Amino acid sequence: MPKSVLLQGMNEKQVIIIGAGPAGLMAAQTLAEKGFKVHVYDQNKAAARKFLVAGNGGFNLTHNETINSFLEKYDAVEIQEIVRNYDNKKVIQWLSDLGISTYVGSSGKIFPTKNFKPIQVLKVWLEHLQNLGVTIHFDHTFVNFDDSLVTLNTTGETIALKYSKLILALGGGSWKKTGSDAKWVEILTKKKIEISALQAANSGYNSDVKFHHLQGQYLKNIQVSFLGNCKIGEVVFTKYGIEGSPVYFMNRFTRKFDFPLTIDIDLKPNLSEIEILEQLKSSEKISPILKKNLKLSTTAINLLKTLDKETYTNIAVLAKLIKSFPIKVLSFRPIDEVISTAGGVSFSALTRNLELEKFPNVYCIGEMIDWEAPTGGYLLQACFSTGFWVGDQIACSLGSENHH
Ligand SMILES: Cc1cc2nc3c(=O)[nH]c(=O)nc-3n(C[C@H](O)[C@H](O)[C@H](O)COP(=O)(O)OP(=O)(O)OC[C@H]3O[C@@H](n4cnc5c(N)ncnc54)[C@H](O)[C@@H]3O)c2cc1C
Repeated sequence: MPKSVLLQGMNEKQVIIIGAGPAGLMAAQTLAEKGFKVHVYDQNKAAARKFLVAGNGGFNLTHNETINSFLEKYDAVEIQEIVRNYDNKKVIQWLSDLGISTYVGSSGKIFPTKNFKPIQVLKVWLEHLQNLGVTIHFDHTFVNFDDSLVTLNTTGETIALKYSKLILALGGGSWKKTGSDAKWVEILTKKKIEISALQAANSGYNSDVKFHHLQGQYLKNIQVSFLGNCKIGEVVFTKYGIEGSPVYFMNRFTRKFDFPLTIDIDLKPNLSEIEILEQLKSSEKISPILKKNLKLSTTAINLLKTLDKETYTNIAVLAKLIKSFPIKVLSFRPIDEVISTAGGVSFSALTRNLELEKFPNVYCIGEMIDWEAPTGGYLLQACFSTGFWVGDQIACSLGSENHH
């Protein structure tokens, strides 16, 4: 703890949350609805910057799916239990209670209806929190904590607040400009709290240079696979490699191996290799068959043309490659530019209530915990679910009479 601290007393039943992202705000709401006084601190000047960034490319807040298939998207059983407890239906109900209507997009993603822009969703939520008496303090940077005090830097001074319950909702390590700079990793590591190194997740791959000339071209309705894990969707070639939701889906599986790795693309998921071969046998000229009979896109044909001539003209081999085109990938993209990070506070450092084993009364929620999931609403869902889980546990443990 710093030498010059300003001790600010807190009512026993007041709860401090650090981080005004979706996880922290959901914990705040859950507690405030049960009558607790909640103070949220954030180093930014505004709440939920990354939540708004997530809204830029389509604001998918959860996913429409049966619960078992939904839960399979998460890599850790601990997070599955928490998401099951506060699931996609509860998120839709919560939004509806806020007056925000939703619809299911073509791929099952759930979005607010068109009249609700991301900033409006946030505004409505923040107004609700304000009405519940939640206070958000901006420009406060979390720098340390012990078993009774949390230390924050604010406009040149250091303050130490006494807490009865402290919730850390500090986010992952990508898009640092949104405030989630992952400096908490060092603070918690010094306290010997077990943390898995943060790694790029929902990341594109840097690929073999031979695909770089395809920059800007899309492959639609293809299937990406890696060691038996398959995902249909759209892939785009970039100046460094490949991006797209089926690519992000593979991150979790490729993470277990060392680069370089090969992931495969099925350019014609609806036809078998035998059916493709039959078509290829029907004429001497390969390119017109690819285009007219097999209806492969220009990008798919351009990809096949990266093969040497001998392979391209060997129809038996070509049929196999149309079903399973190998793309050599060399690495993930840099952490700061990816959608989320894997790694974080290990479940082994946490109780089932998400309370730190080494620091009773200190809880972790959201992306800062060691779980990962693909985009499609699964990330925000788990942030909401962990926020609710901890808010609810604390409310139960402290008793939920009115403690304002
Ligand atoms: C480009 C992009 C697109 C995305 N698209 C989707 C999507 O479509 N669907 C989906 O489900 N998810 C999406 N996400 C992911 C989603 O936005 C995050 O998983 C989610 O915001 C994480 O919530 P969180 O509350 O755990 O942390 P964050 O939202 O990161 O919030 C953490 C908060 O803690 C504060 N903080 C951090 N350190 C300190 C400190 N030391 N002191 C004080 N305050 C601190 C930060 O300022 C921040 O406000 C996207 C993310 C990005 C970047």
